[in-house]
Amino acid sequence: MEVLYNSTRSRGISIKASQAILQGLSEDGGLFVPDHIPALDRSLEELAQMDYRQVAIEVMKLYLTDFTEEELKGCIEKAYDGKFDTERIAPLREAGGAYYLELFHGPTIAFKDMALSILPHLMIAAARKNKVKNEIVILTATSGDTGKAALAGFAGVEGTRIVVFYPKDGVSAIQEKQMVTQKGENTLVVGIRGNFDDAQTGVKRIFADKELAKEMEGKGFQFSSANSINIGRLVPQICYYVYAYGTLLREGKIAAGEAINVVVPTGNFGNILAAFYAKNMGLPIGKLICASNENKVLYDFFRTGDYDRNREFVLTSSPSMDILISSNLERLVYLSAGNDADRNRAFMESLGGQGRYEITEDMKAALSDFYGNYATEKEAAAEIRRLYQDCGYVIDTHTAVASGVYRKYVQETGDMAKAVIASTASPYKFTRSVMGAIGRADGAKDDFELVDELARLSGVKVPRAVEEIRTAPVLHEKQCETAQMKDVVKEFLGIYTAHRLNLQCAQTADRQPGTFPGTPL
Ligand SMILES: *Cc1c(COP(=O)(O)O)cnc(C)c1O
Repeated sequence: MEVLYNSTRSRGISIKASQAILQGLSEDGGLFVPDHIPALDRSLEELAQMDYRQVAIEVMKLYLTDFTEEELKGCIEKAYDGKFDTERIAPLREAGGAYYLELFHGPTIAFKDMALSILPHLMIAAARKNKVKNEIVILTATSGDTGKAALAGFAGVEGTRIVVFYPKDGVSAIQEKQMVTQKGENTLVVGIRGNFDDAQTGVKRIFADKELAKEMEGKGFQFSSANSINIGRLVPQICYYVYAYGTLLREGKIAAGEAINVVVPTGNFGNILAAFYAKNMGLPIGKLICASNENKVLYDFFRTGDYDRNREFVLTSSPSMDILISSNLERLVYLSAGNDADRNRAFMESLGGQGRYEITEDMKAALSDFYGNYATEKEAAAEIRRLYQDCGYVIDTHTAVASGVYRKYVQETGDMAKAVIASTASPYKFTRSVMGAIGRADGAKDDFELVDELARLSGVKVPRAVEEIRTAPVLHEKQCETAQMKDVVKEFLGIYTAHRLNLQCAQTADRQPGTFPGTPL
């Protein structure tokens, strides 16, 4: 049965999957949502026998119904290949009484690779299908990991360009170095003076700019998004939950039909929403445990029904979760409002205006699959230490938040169902914080010395992604204010602007060679 995509903000918009992927965001500012969630049409036992790529086909063909199976196969084969350092693509690791679903074996060592290694291929296939002649310009706001994963996916892809905005002082040193060393004529990386929410809001504003869109069209360009607001990101993320369940079943850890809990370190709510879709497709999932860091706006929301971003933005050692506007929550709010776009739009307008909205009791009842909690900086660090000491297993700072929240959940509820914890980044991406938590971060050492020490104590080889950037030259030094984001994009595309750009690059010029600023951790 065909799945069409509706906007969360107005009635009457209904487009095919390939069109939704091309557009990214609906022109009314809403997100595209499937008009129904398809059911898995293979048994759990069958799925358990499949490898990652086969599972991906089974899941994705149910959502991306205007792609042929051949097209999907082609995309999947190009995405989940030797770029990943394991055949399993998303292996499970048992440690300390839970199963860690390692989603960081791709080229940029964060879970964003799971979707961003396939999105460019989906987009090219979608462009061909819709006879798009324009060059596609990917605009991306990143809290650190999406940026590099999107750059890696789109660099050198003919017919596309990519612009990434990241918060200049809001990402880890390794994250920043990964981005600013990106090669490829079609790439641009810009540090903005603001936080992730500023970057994301700026990008959304550019998307909604009708005049700019017209100007772009005239020059043969059109925008799309690589952020998790694009359903081309969301759908591939459903696959690994199905695959993880299959792995547990195949290895005899669970019986077919046995419900598992899923724990997700959450920022923009994309990853956990994918788990929610998996559950609604019929995958036996009990609770969806939403873990936040000290930016605990989602914890408060699930507890009270009041979404309130009016609070201090905290810079934590899990920067990819430092978010106060969780974009994908809109898809859940829309659903809980009975797929009522008008009701949802009113909430989102209130969020845009007053920075908050409060859902009704009946909507709250529709969210009972979710459990929210948070871990403080101290609790997350203690969790890294505990797992290392007890099991010799080193997790990253984001996974530590999830792991810590899972412990709170078990203490609170006594629910001992098997749990899969989404492990969203390699500890090598946040080496200083991770080594600090274990008590081995010597302030005098640079990040790469710590990397080598982490390799010694974890016994895990330094990933290629980290080796590559040790000596790579910085290629992107542009910085801008949030108000200048549109001009930066126009300049990159060679579109004339009336006033001269005066974009500062000065600050980076007085960096010492071989060093780079990052979040003080
Ligand atoms: C992006 C990211 C998250 C948050 O995922 P969302 O889908 O935005 O909720 C968590 N951990 C890491 C390492 C990430 O890169």
